[in-house]
Amino acid sequence: MSQTNSKDSEENNEDDEWHKFSNAGYSSASVDSDAEIDKNVNDNQSGVWFDGDDFEFEGKTLDWNSPPCPTPLGVAHVIKIGTCNHCIERVSGKKNMSGEEIRSEAHVRDGTLDKSFETILCPLCENLFDDIGNIVNRIVDKISNLEYSTIQIGIHLPKDLINDEDEIRSRHGATGSRPLKSAMVVAIQNEININLGTDVNFVKEKPDLMVLIDGLTLRVDVDVRPIYFYGRYRKLSREIPQTRWPCRACKGRARGCESCNESGLQYLDSVQDLVGEPVRSALDAEDTSFHGMGREDIDVRMLGKGRPFIIEIKKPMSRIPDLEKLVNTINDNADGKVEIDSLKRTDRSLIAKIKASRSEKSYTIRFKVSGEIIEEEVISHISDISGVVLNQETPQRVSHRRAAKIRKRKVTYLGNIIIEGDEIQFDVRCEAGTYVKELVHSDEGRTIPSVSGKIGMDCEILWLDVTEIHDDEENQDN
Ligand SMILES: [Zn+2]
Ligand SMILES: [Zn+2]
Repeated sequence: MSQTNSKDSEENNEDDEWHKFSNAGYSSASVDSDAEIDKNVNDNQSGVWFDGDDFEFEGKTLDWNSPPCPTPLGVAHVIKIGTCNHCIERVSGKKNMSGEEIRSEAHVRDGTLDKSFETILCPLCENLFDDIGNIVNRIVDKISNLEYSTIQIGIHLPKDLINDEDEIRSRHGATGSRPLKSAMVVAIQNEININLGTDVNFVKEKPDLMVLIDGLTLRVDVDVRPIYFYGRYRKLSREIPQTRWPCRACKGRARGCESCNESGLQYLDSVQDLVGEPVRSALDAEDTSFHGMGREDIDVRMLGKGRPFIIEIKKPMSRIPDLEKLVNTINDNADGKVEIDSLKRTDRSLIAKIKASRSEKSYTIRFKVSGEIIEEEVISHISDISGVVLNQETPQRVSHRRAAKIRKRKVTYLGNIIIEGDEIQFDVRCEAGTYVKELVHSDEGRTIPSVSGKIGMDCEILWLDVTEIHDDEENQDN
C-alpha cells in the first residue's frame, strides 16, 4: 500500500510539472481571450489616439516618446525598430490587415519613412515566427502515428525575451495586443491545421497529447497523456496479488534472476496484468498502473460485484478501443482467475475518489479450532461480536509497513455461523480498514474482542473471501 501511494504522489508531481510548463504557453486568461483583445482594440480606436494622423513625424529619427499603436506614429515607430511582419500584425491594433499590408500602408502614408528599416532581428520575437514552419514539421512528424482527439500546445521561451517583449509591447503596442507566447501558440496551431488539412481540437487542459516546444533549441516533445478505465474485478484465485509484485531476490531488475525464472516477478500473474496487459497491448501502450479501492491479501478471494479499480494506460498509441471486445479478451485470457463485467472510460480525478472510499465490506471466513466445540456456547460467544467496536493494534504481519496504532473498527453484522467438525465459518460485515483475520485469531491479543478470546481456543484461518464491497451509496459506477 505504501508503495502504491508513493508512486501516486510521484505521478501527481509529474502531472503538476507538466501543468505549470504547459500553462507557461499562455498569458492570463483575460489577456488571452479574443473577445478581450477585440474589446481593448475597439476601445482604443474610438479613444484618444484615433485622430493620430494629425501628428507629424520624420521618417528617420526614432521618437521613443511616440504614442503607441494604432496611431500612425506608433506604427511607424514599431517599423523603425525592426519589428517583423508577424509582430507588426499583432501589436499594431489594426484588425484584418496582415503585417505586410500595415507596413506598406505606413510607407504610402509617409514617404519619408525610410525603407531601410528592414527586419534584421525583430526586437519583439527575435524572428521566432520564422521558425513556425520548422516547428510544425517536427510536431506533425511526432504525432503522425498517434491517435488523439485533443492537443495542448506549450512553448517555453527565455525569460529575458519575454520581459523585453513585454516592455516594448506595453510601451509601443496597441492596448490588448496578444503577448508573444500566446501569439506563438496560436500561430503554431493555425499552421498545424493547415499542415494536417483538418481542424484539430486544441485545448488548454486535459489534452490527449501535450506538445511542448523549447523556443530556444526548437526541440519538440510530445507527451502522450495516459487514459483511464474504470471497472470492478472479481479475483477467484488465492494465489495472485492485486498489483505486479517484483521478485524478492532480484527486486524485479530488467532480466530477472534464476529464482523468478527471468521474469522479475514474485508472482507471474496479478490482477493488474491480467486486466491491464490485454488493454495495454490493444492500445499499443507502454505500461499500466493499477489503482484499486483498497486491496485484499493474495490468498483472499474477491467475490460479489467485485472491487472497483482504475487501470491507467501509459503512453497509448491508440485511444479508442472496442471495450466490449476487450472485456471478453481479458476474461478469456484470465482463465477464471480474474473476471470483470465492464470497462468504462474515466479520468484521473476518480482515482483519488476510489482511494479515499471508506466503504464497509462483507466477508466469509473459515477457520479451525483446537479444543472441544460445544455448539450452542460457541455460537453464542461468537454472536456477541456482532455490533461491537473492535480495538485493533497494528497486526504483526503488517507492522513493518504500517505505523503502530490502535484502530477502532465497528463490526456491523456477524452471523450465519456454521460448525462442521473442528471447523467454523461465518459471515461478517465491518467498517473499512478492519483486519478480519485478526478479528478471528486475535493476533496474540492485539485485537479485542476476538473470536479466539471469546471461545477460549486458538483459531487457525483456513480461508477468507471478500463477498461484497458496499460502495453503492457512493455510486462509483457513474
Ligand atoms: Zn517579430
Ligand atoms: Zn528474480
